[in-house]
Amino acid sequence: MFELLKTDSATQARLGRLVTVHGVVDTPVFMPVGTQGSVKALDPRELEEMGTQILLGNSYHLYLRPGLDIIREAGGLHRFINWPKPLLTDSGGFQVFSLAKIRKIQAHGVEFRSHLDGSLLFLGPKEAMEIQRALGSDIAMVFDDCPAHTATPRELRAAVDRTLRWAAECREQPRAPGQMVFGIVQGGGQAALREECAKALTSLRLDGYAIGGVSVGEAEAEMMKAVEYTTPFLPADQPRYAMGLGTPAQLVELVARGVDMFDCVLPTRVARNGTAFTRRGTLSIKGAACKRDWGPIEEGCACFACLRFSRAYLRHLLNVDEILGLRMVSLHNSHLFLKVMEEMRAHLEAGTFAKFRRGFIANYVPSRRVLAARKDGPFSAEETR
Ligand SMILES: [Zn+2]
Repeated sequence: MFELLKTDSATQARLGRLVTVHGVVDTPVFMPVGTQGSVKALDPRELEEMGTQILLGNSYHLYLRPGLDIIREAGGLHRFINWPKPLLTDSGGFQVFSLAKIRKIQAHGVEFRSHLDGSLLFLGPKEAMEIQRALGSDIAMVFDDCPAHTATPRELRAAVDRTLRWAAECREQPRAPGQMVFGIVQGGGQAALREECAKALTSLRLDGYAIGGVSVGEAEAEMMKAVEYTTPFLPADQPRYAMGLGTPAQLVELVARGVDMFDCVLPTRVARNGTAFTRRGTLSIKGAACKRDWGPIEEGCACFACLRFSRAYLRHLLNVDEILGLRMVSLHNSHLFLKVMEEMRAHLEAGTFAKFRRGFIANYVPSRRVLAARKDGPFSAEETR
């Protein structure tokens, strides 16, 4: 189902092809996040036009609202949201461990209270796979224990044990036709735990492997290390997915470390604060500097927002809370993330990835504020991942 087409000679970057029931996904790939069955502020036609190959849906949110009976009645998530291309769903583990109000971890899952109405619910490997089967995603994720980055070594150990037990349980559950299941490697910032978790998970022979427990508030250097501790123990001929990451520069660095798949809410989340991503870092469109700036968000960008509107106009829209403003910044940001992935694939094909990486990183100035926005992830009820 995954074909490794090429590995870069100078880095660990990989060019691949993932074949799913709803179509082929060229990797490295960025998956826009449709938390509630929609990518915030964007419509599916825009997503298709900017080259989206696969969307992510959140089991936890869709299970709470509209609920599985409605999605089953619609004929699955693809039909409910009318998205004919591939879909990946997360298992809800990340949300239960970060959003839910009260919880009791038990042998076969977690008892928690809905962040919406406080109702008592239970989610474990069996339930998570049943939800994802009803959603009918092309790729389902195992139910894992995702600890905070402040977890003690003892808590990390327990999370790895639970994650492994639950992954084995997920593997035995019925699936939607052709549905793939990916495992999730935990272990925090501990090299030995990451190795152990990766080795034990891969022995289950799942369809792909994710690096979890990243994007939980840790510093960038720790995040890169967690990835470096994990990838050497993942099979070369299967897809690797870093969950909840990152900024454009981080995506380039993670591709260089051998990661194939990404999802992140940053493009749409920061857009709602009036922040645009560019190849030189982030830019506050809302800021006074854009008041009389008649240029586009980014010179040379081919997105609709840049072809049509000035920074000054977008700043005005954002300042008066016109929906078009946040739609256009969301569109530009998502477009940039997808184009950067497309360029990386082209450079991998041409054998020029290492040069591209050097140029991209030299040009990109990371913003502390944006890196901090990533930390809201686990605690934001409106949008997770
Ligand atoms: Zn643009």
